[in-house]
Amino acid sequence: MPPWRPEPKIPVALLGATGMVGQEIARSLLNHPWFELTAVAASDGSAGQRYGAAARGGADGLDPGLAERPLIRCDPAEAFAPIVFSALDAEAAREIEPRFARAGALVVSNASAFRMEPDVPLIVPEVNPEQLGLLAVQRSGRGWPGGIICNPNCVVAIVGLVLAPLHRRWGLRAASVVTLQSASGAGYPGVAALDLMGNVVPDIRGEEEKIVAELGKLLGTNGSLPIGAQAHRVPVPYGHSAALALGFVEDVSPDTAAAELQRWRGAPESAGLPSLPEFPIVVTDLPGRPQARLDLWAGKGMAVTVGRLRPDPVLGLRCVVLGHNLIRGAAGAAVANAELLVKCER
Ligand code: NAP
Repeated sequence: MPPWRPEPKIPVALLGATGMVGQEIARSLLNHPWFELTAVAASDGSAGQRYGAAARGGADGLDPGLAERPLIRCDPAEAFAPIVFSALDAEAAREIEPRFARAGALVVSNASAFRMEPDVPLIVPEVNPEQLGLLAVQRSGRGWPGGIICNPNCVVAIVGLVLAPLHRRWGLRAASVVTLQSASGAGYPGVAALDLMGNVVPDIRGEEEKIVAELGKLLGTNGSLPIGAQAHRVPVPYGHSAALALGFVEDVSPDTAAAELQRWRGAPESAGLPSLPEFPIVVTDLPGRPQARLDLWAGKGMAVTVGRLRPDPVLGLRCVVLGHNLIRGAAGAAVANAELLVKCER
């Protein structure tokens, strides 16, 4: 049987189309089997300009036809579609996303504005598709015909994918997460070049708190699991790395952990979604891996790579994780969440 697809394709709109994440969503939607991008929107200052001219950082790889389209304002009267991707700044998202939900759209958001609200699903399809059930609570509580679902922060989307199968199998009792986050994670123009070149900045404002809180919501541990996070910005263009030290209720050897990660396919609801690889985790035992230069594109940017699995004298197990922050950590995560919504509602 050929793979299922909606006929005709579902119209989708994109808010924050000019940013780093917005452009990546636009690229992911080109020739998408289920979705048709019908509206590209950005701030009032960009509205009316050609998308290609207003796209931050030079519109690299944007479809030439799309680049010619005029940008519209982030207003449901202009940009409504049944599914609306949001790649807005958090501040703008807090104002704009509810307007679309109130107008009946399902908003699939990258922004942090609503991630920790108790009635908002915070989803990675392979990890916790059951949180989609919160949409009904949100709709009845807020009186919205539409709703908002979020993907986690870029680090949480990448690290959570690795913690989830290990936690389910052996029960995490503590986790230390030390991140090395790329420049593109700060949006465009992001960190000033002179602050970042030849440097490591050991602070990303608000990031450590987000990592701890969102990992708790994603894994369902909500504060009961001690997680320590230390975030660093590094002069790497794309790809977030994280060095993990993990303690479990049961003893776990590096070899058993590697086997569990390698064979894990995620929750059954995520099977067959067009954006997801069959195996979301690649395990490598090559020395000095994973590296952003070599491993960024595993699973077309949607798989994360785990290496250097070894015993940790303090907690039990150590490893290094790498994922594409703009794809698995943002744009691809949102597109996969929209696919999950469609699959679960059909
Ligand atoms: P960005 O490059 O700074 O882009 C921000 C976008 O928001 C632009 O399209 C901008 O439009 C639009 N915008 C800002 N203020 C607006 C307003 N008042 N009304 C309408 N549109 C407005 O940021 P980004 O890196 O793409 O990130 C987008 C969102 O995803 C953020 O919430 C971010 O935290 C989140 N996120 C980012 C990453 C990452 O790796 N970069 C990962 C996960 C999540 P104009 O160009 O017209 O100003």
